[in-house]
Amino acid sequence: MAAEKTTGIVLRVIAFSETSCIVTLFTREFGKLTTIAKGARRPKSPFEAALDVLAICRIVFLDKSPGGMGILTEAKLERRFRGASRSLNQLYAGYYVVELLNTLNDEGDPHPDLFDHAVATIGQIDLNETRDEQLGQILLRFELNTLDVLGHLPMLTKCVGCGREKTTVTRVSFGLNLGGILCQTCRRGESNIVSLSSGGLQCLLELVGGQLGSNQRNSDNWNKADRAPGKLAMIDATRLLVDGANEIREFKEEKEEWSRGVPEREPLSNADSSTITFADRVRCQAEVRQLVRRYITHLLGFPPKLHKFLRNI
Ligand SMILES: [Zn+2]
Repeated sequence: MAAEKTTGIVLRVIAFSETSCIVTLFTREFGKLTTIAKGARRPKSPFEAALDVLAICRIVFLDKSPGGMGILTEAKLERRFRGASRSLNQLYAGYYVVELLNTLNDEGDPHPDLFDHAVATIGQIDLNETRDEQLGQILLRFELNTLDVLGHLPMLTKCVGCGREKTTVTRVSFGLNLGGILCQTCRRGESNIVSLSSGGLQCLLELVGGQLGSNQRNSDNWNKADRAPGKLAMIDATRLLVDGANEIREFKEEKEEWSRGVPEREPLSNADSSTITFADRVRCQAEVRQLVRRYITHLLGFPPKLHKFLRNI
């Protein structure tokens, strides 16, 4: 087995036998890695105190044989996460970063950009003066960056169903199944729809750097010139199979879903950034955070454990 060196974030440490641990790391060059650290639980361990969740360390490991587990031979602490001693929300935010890295990444699939962003994010969370509202923004950027790197960033400038370009910022339906905004035609018959306010869409576009085209506007704010006829025909045919009662139920669920946390009043109707107040921005960011967390839950097929601890962030 070849010895490899890399830098990693400790994601999980599980006791294994009386003296050893199973350690999962997210590394820069090798992606997610599960290794056995022999002797790590002994009082005079060769790993000292490097193997703590959220610690960033330089490691040496023996690469696994196919189907086997790597052997961690050395771990030197580069930076310890101290957020836990500062506030509970900083601890939860840090654990959430770890949970996303662990659940959304496959073993041996490296993403150096995601690693660098994760290290920077952990550093931001760990700062002494990080307030709860900043934690929310830091996590939202990390969530979107992770989705982007892993190829799951939602489509926000075109209808994800038919490809028609969205031309203005207005309230829009977001389809969790297809991962993006939907025009009124494609929305019909789709389940798992979330309504996104114009302010929420604007906020999301700013975060991911997207822009809506402003040419050839039409009455429903979709650029009909970009229709893909074949795709649209297929969707229309599917629509005929829609159960009307089903659609009404979905609509009710959608209203209930959003009426709990987000006011129903349409914010930022003109979507002019010069008129956006601080309160509007806070409300739109809260809406976007809810949407992104719901989208991540949908992608995973289960809610991340930490979501219930992030309600105030
Ligand atoms: Zn469409």
